[in-house]
Amino acid sequence: MNNKLILVKYASEIFLKGLNRGKFERRLKENIEKKLAGLQFEFVTDQGRGFIKAEDIDAAVERVRKVFGVAEVCIVTEVERDLTAIKEEALRKVKEANPKTFKIETNRANKKFQLNSIETSRDVGGYVLHHFGGGLEVDVKNPECLVNIEIREKAYVFTSKDKIKGVGGLPYGMNGSTMLMLSGGIDSPVAGYLMARRGVELNCVYYHSHPYTSERAKDKVKELAKILSNYTERVNLYIVPFTEIQLDIMEKCRQDELTILMRRFMMRCACVLAEKYGVQSISSGESIGQVASQTMEGLIVSTDCADRPVFRPLIAMDKGDIMDIAKEIGTYETSILPYEDCCTIFVPKHPKTKPQLDAMRKAESVLDVDAMVEKAINETELVVF
Ligand code: ATP
Ligand code: MG
Repeated sequence: MNNKLILVKYASEIFLKGLNRGKFERRLKENIEKKLAGLQFEFVTDQGRGFIKAEDIDAAVERVRKVFGVAEVCIVTEVERDLTAIKEEALRKVKEANPKTFKIETNRANKKFQLNSIETSRDVGGYVLHHFGGGLEVDVKNPECLVNIEIREKAYVFTSKDKIKGVGGLPYGMNGSTMLMLSGGIDSPVAGYLMARRGVELNCVYYHSHPYTSERAKDKVKELAKILSNYTERVNLYIVPFTEIQLDIMEKCRQDELTILMRRFMMRCACVLAEKYGVQSISSGESIGQVASQTMEGLIVSTDCADRPVFRPLIAMDKGDIMDIAKEIGTYETSILPYEDCCTIFVPKHPKTKPQLDAMRKAESVLDVDAMVEKAINETELVVF
């Protein structure tokens, strides 16, 4: 291992946690260590920062930046806590970047160091200017090359190009659990990602309409759950056989009520599974007004069947913005594979867009709701990622 290491900056929200801050930091450290499993590494924390030595720095960076709660990772050069050593390294970095303008910024966490932050920056800056060999100026507002110095037990030197943005959020597992209704579409994986990014543990449920939806449609959902699991820990995917419920509704209820009744059953099944496995809430990828079933009335009528909070993190987002996130997190390419989903097959020509709660409850009274749900849950398959 050489003198390069990874400095991990935690999301600033973690520092606002008051008495709980220690818990959040410990969890984040554990989560990072889990993500690095299989690589040679050493991880120490120092006053709200993580420092990682790793054999394969690039591989480690790629994993660490995707851990929720990490704001930024920087590949830094470690030198002794000694002004001369710091100056030489800063000069080396500026020479490497060969800019027209530069600036030094210092963060002195170790108060034993003889100069304060401003004095250090000034002193190192003067040294760099003097030894660079001409054509270089200081620009404090908009420097071409920003050199950061962190002074701790040792000193760390890095520039803007050594910084890689992390995914942010809060440590996974710190904020309860949710049952994500995961379809093969673009939206629900993004919804799951956003919940997990806030530290909420993910479980997924997929309603499968065999033989109207193919094995390939199921595989697609499995692939999406697997991609999500790269950001989280173990993800349980519950696959609920949904065909009988749909056929039952089709046979006994009105065509235009099919979609909304089906959504009520999805909600019920999700809640029963959540209860069975100790999951606290439900999440879905709905966005207000996006399609016929996602009207205010539609959302009210499906939420009516829930016995726990229902979260819709995309509710106020535009499709384009959701697609951007899907691309960023790597679910988009899988989501757009053209396999049918159960909703497109059992879709009525003119779905009700403003269903009324009383009318829907009444429409359902011809169905043996509890038995239908129970049977589907009993036949549910679990796949773990
Ligand atoms: P998505 O892109 O997530 O599929 P969508 O725009 O296609 O969403 P709908 O088909 O109305 O919208 O579904 C709304 C939400 O209901 C989805 O985001 C998802 O959370 C849930 N959902 C829909 N179909 C299924 C399914 N077959 N299994 C599990 N959840 C589903
Ligand atoms: Mg869909």
